[in-house]
Amino acid sequence: MTAKTLKKPPAEASASPDIQSCLSYFEERQDQIIETIRQLVEVESPTDSKPAVDRLGSLLAGRFEGLGGHAKFHRTQNFGDHLQVDFSGKSTGKPVMLLGHLDTVYPVGTLATMPFRRADGRLWGPGSFDMKSGIAFMLNAIEALRTWHGDQLPRPVTILLVSDEEVGSDTSRHITENLARKAAAVLVLEPAYGLKGAVKTARKGVGEYNLKVIGKAAHSGLDFEKGASAIIELSRQVIEISKLVDLKHGITLNVGTVQGGTRSNVIPGEARAVLDVRVAHMKDAAAIDRKLRSRKPFNRKCKLEITGGVNRPPMERTAAVAALYKKASEIAKQLGWRLEEAAVGGGSDGNFTAGLGIPTLDGLGGVGEGAHASNESVLISELARRTALLARLIESV
Ligand SMILES: [Zn+2]
Repeated sequence: MTAKTLKKPPAEASASPDIQSCLSYFEERQDQIIETIRQLVEVESPTDSKPAVDRLGSLLAGRFEGLGGHAKFHRTQNFGDHLQVDFSGKSTGKPVMLLGHLDTVYPVGTLATMPFRRADGRLWGPGSFDMKSGIAFMLNAIEALRTWHGDQLPRPVTILLVSDEEVGSDTSRHITENLARKAAAVLVLEPAYGLKGAVKTARKGVGEYNLKVIGKAAHSGLDFEKGASAIIELSRQVIEISKLVDLKHGITLNVGTVQGGTRSNVIPGEARAVLDVRVAHMKDAAAIDRKLRSRKPFNRKCKLEITGGVNRPPMERTAAVAALYKKASEIAKQLGWRLEEAAVGGGSDGNFTAGLGIPTLDGLGGVGEGAHASNESVLISELARRTALLARLIESV
């Protein structure tokens, strides 16, 4: 606990500084944190380029090993290798897990038009916010903790940086879940919410479904009555499916794309739609799944095929999540600011770990805006205290 740490005599070589000195420590090293973020942003790492993501993975493995960690790659064929780093600690309890991702949504070459730069109190560049500043916090917090605790960490820490988060984490999910099961808590260094830097204590679950309609193609002039339009059927289905939206209970469905037909004089034999489903509660995921799968065609000559499912469970604000948030907000208060919490619609790998019942706090990374957009940036003024918060959380959860 922080309080206990504070009572230790300051002269002891292996004690953390008091909370104010802890903050000053990172404020004095703000330029070092900025430099780390620059280095990470300047190694582009789009999900779909394995060599690019692997370059960032190797760089980080080297950096973490330089801080005494044991790096290990989980080899992946089509994506970058997932990076796991284990640190032993003075105490032997369960590790705290620091979770994040290496990949970004920006193709290689983006730096040419969107270079890393420092302006208007912010750091700009692809991935600066989502989530290379979060990785920089990990590096700087670990380094500080080692300095304060006589060249070792106060407790074991496991870091996992996956390579496929931006496309749904299919190849990393089992690794994330296996490591989380062994952890005391999971701290997710994804971007904070809003410019006030709220942490995320609830995230919606996310699913994707494909709806395919098989009708009966026919010449629209010669055989009109023999056809069964897949497009008409799909349209009617889309209207019905949209009625499942229930904003009050946090359920949304969005038919994001539709396709169908071949040419204007052919009654379309096939049409399809892809829909995004988001739910705040796990029980709603099952109900929506049932409702979608039990849909019947309006036109008996048409057939429906529904595939897909919810691939990220919702991160619900359980008692364990709330307790972790409380701890973080107490540390923030000592650091002189009010840490807010938010429930958001987007999912992250924190959804998996929270879904297992492991205390999870998300959104501990950089404060900024423009994730996945050309104005992606983080606030420089928040760097030191977010890193201080992380360091204190690692010590105390
Ligand atoms: Zn992210």
